[in-house]
Formats: sequence, structure tokens, C-alpha cells
Amino acid sequence: MTELFYDDDADLSIIQGRKVAILGYGSQGHAHALSLRDSGVDVRVGLPEGSQSRVKAEGQGLRVVSPAEAAAEADVIMVLVPDPIQGKVYEESIKDNLKDGDALFFAHGFTIRFDLIKPPANVDVCMVAPKGPGHLVRRQYQEGRGVPCIVAVEQDASGNAFALALSYAMGIGGTRAGVIKTTFTEETETDLFGEQAVLAGGVSALVKAGFETLVEAGYQPEIAYFECLHELKLVVDLMYEGGLEKMRWSISETAEWGDYVTGPRIITDATKAEMKKVLGEIQDGTFARNWINEYNAGLPRYNEYKKADSDHLLETTGRKLRQLMGWVHDEV
Ligand code: NDP
Ligand code: MG
Ligand code: MG
Repeated sequence: MTELFYDDDADLSIIQGRKVAILGYGSQGHAHALSLRDSGVDVRVGLPEGSQSRVKAEGQGLRVVSPAEAAAEADVIMVLVPDPIQGKVYEESIKDNLKDGDALFFAHGFTIRFDLIKPPANVDVCMVAPKGPGHLVRRQYQEGRGVPCIVAVEQDASGNAFALALSYAMGIGGTRAGVIKTTFTEETETDLFGEQAVLAGGVSALVKAGFETLVEAGYQPEIAYFECLHELKLVVDLMYEGGLEKMRWSISETAEWGDYVTGPRIITDATKAEMKKVLGEIQDGTFARNWINEYNAGLPRYNEYKKADSDHLLETTGRKLRQLMGWVHDEV
């Protein structure tokens, strides 16, 4: 059974009684640091000398020290640096600064789930993962609302780790919206699977294959771009608001019929079998091992893939077309 927790289930005074270090000041880091501070929590930000983010954090009125000093001062240490470098930051700045009763916090379970960080037995290990980008987390907090969070305890050394995690979630507005209890394993494996099979990997490959099919059949790339990429936003917005049902209610009956009869010919039993293999490689650590090796090698294949897709006709066509559509916000 899914367990949900709200403001009434949480006690903000727990986190207000602790000293919190936020390591990193990117998407999540800035949102956590600023909202905890506004919730009356004692916050310091840990960033290396020369980090771009230092200027930003100091400009927003936060005290910035080195990651090691932050970890030493604090008794709750939230690790909000990019996942592939968390192991290094832990070894260099956190490990030797952990005291009995400290708590190590994460917003994603990757490094704990795949044993890239092995905390000692005398500290709590918790996760508070907002289900949205940091800028939305911060904006919702400022507007008196919140982004739902998922919360987990991997190691409960104090016996009060879950109450502490709920209190932290309250400090960033999460319990205003609702908090769901999970585990590091469930969060990490479902997050990786979702982004690979559906949200990023699945969608990108589907859009590219559809676009290529039309262009190879002689249709204009501009028309193919509209049909296979641009209109995706309308469909996703409807799904977001009301599931597949609302999307199907809004599109034409012809489109809905095509959805039923053609969808299963595109995403076939073979696709689902491959999805199961992908999930297996996430679960057995193969994906994590390959990704960390790639990262440590300086991202050679990652950069190759990025370049190839940047030069793809889909992207060059899209860049030109978006200039004709002033209302489409193109940040890249
Ligand atoms: P970002 O890439 O946005 O920010 C990383 C921050 O870490 C930057 O401020 C960077 O500073 C800083 N940094 C880099 N190296 C170090 C170091 N050695 N010591 C201290 N700080 C350092 O990260 P995200 O906010 O996206 O991700 C943080 C965590 O949150 C990850 O675990 C991620 O999985 C999780 N998460 C992210 C979500 C999101 O929406 N982005 C959603 C939910 C979870 P600099 O300016 O110098 O580069
Ligand atoms: Mg992810
Ligand atoms: Mg159409």
C-alpha cells in the first residue's frame, strides 16, 4: 500500500534543530538551500573554491564554505552534486567529517544503490527526492505550495531517520503537496528505467524513427518535423492533465482509431522484451558500471552521440523552423 504524508504528519522543528550542509548549488541545491533557510533552518552551502555556483549562492545571501568545512560543521549533509562525482566528493570531503548521529541525505539513490558510496553504520542515510526540477521546487515553495517528494531511509542509525527525512521534506515544501515513502532501490531503478525506456531514450528514438521514415519516403523535412516532434507537446500536455483518456478525447476519432490499431505494431512484444532486458541491466548494476566508466574516461561516446544527434536533419530542420515561431521558447 502506498503511504502518503502531509504537513500534519511532519515536524518542522526537527530539521530546525539541526545544522544542514547543502553540497552543490545547481538545480536542486539552490532550491533546497533557499527554501530550508526560509523555513528557519540553519543552512550552509558547500562548494569548491572557484566554483561558478559560489557567486550565485553568496548573491542570494547564503553562507558558502568548502564542501569539507560544510560537512564538518553540519550534522545533516545533503549531497546535491552531479551523481557521477558524488563518490569522489564523499571520499574527499565528507567521509572523514562524519560524526556519530550525523545524517547523509541524497535526492537520488544512484550512488548508494550501486555501492559507489558506503556510509559507516553510525549515520542515518536518507533520501528526499522532489518529483520535479529544482526551479519548480523553489517557485512552488515561494508560492505557498510544493512539489511532491518521495522519501526513503536506507539506514536508520538514530532510530528517527524517517521523521528527520519528513521534516526536511517539509522544509522544502514537499509535505504541502504530499510525500510518498519509497526505498533507495525502488527510486533508483524506476528513475533510470523511466528515463531510458520512455521519457528520454524511448521518446527520442521514436521521434527520430518517425521523422526518418517520412523523409526517406520523400516528404519535406519541415512537414515531418511538425508531425513527429512539434505536435508531441500538445499530446503530452493532454496526457499530463488527464491521462491517455483526455488525450484521446481531444484528438480526432481518426487519430484515436490509428492510436489503437497502429500503436501496438510500433511498440511490439519484442520492444517490451527489450525493455525487460534494459531493466535487468539496471538492476544488476551493468548500466551503472558502464556509465561511471564512460564518465571517468572523459565521456568519449557520450560526446559522439551528442554530436551525431546535433547534426541530424531533425535537429537542423527544427532549429530553422523554431525561428519562425516566436512563441516557442528555445533556450539551447
Ligand atoms: P546540477 O548539475 O544542477 O548542479 C550541480 C552542482 O554541484 C553545481 O552547483 C556545481 O557547481 C556543484 N558541484 C560540482 N562539483 C562539486 C564539488 N566537487 N563539490 C561541491 N559542489 C560541486 O545538479 P542537479 O541539481 O541536477 O542534481 C543534484 C542531485 O539531485 C543529483 O543526485 C540528481 O540526481 C538529483 N535530482 C535532480 C533533479 C533535477 O531536477 N535536476 C530532480 C531530482 C533529483 P559548479 O557551478 O561549480 O558546476
Ligand atoms: Mg534521473
Ligand atoms: Mg496530424
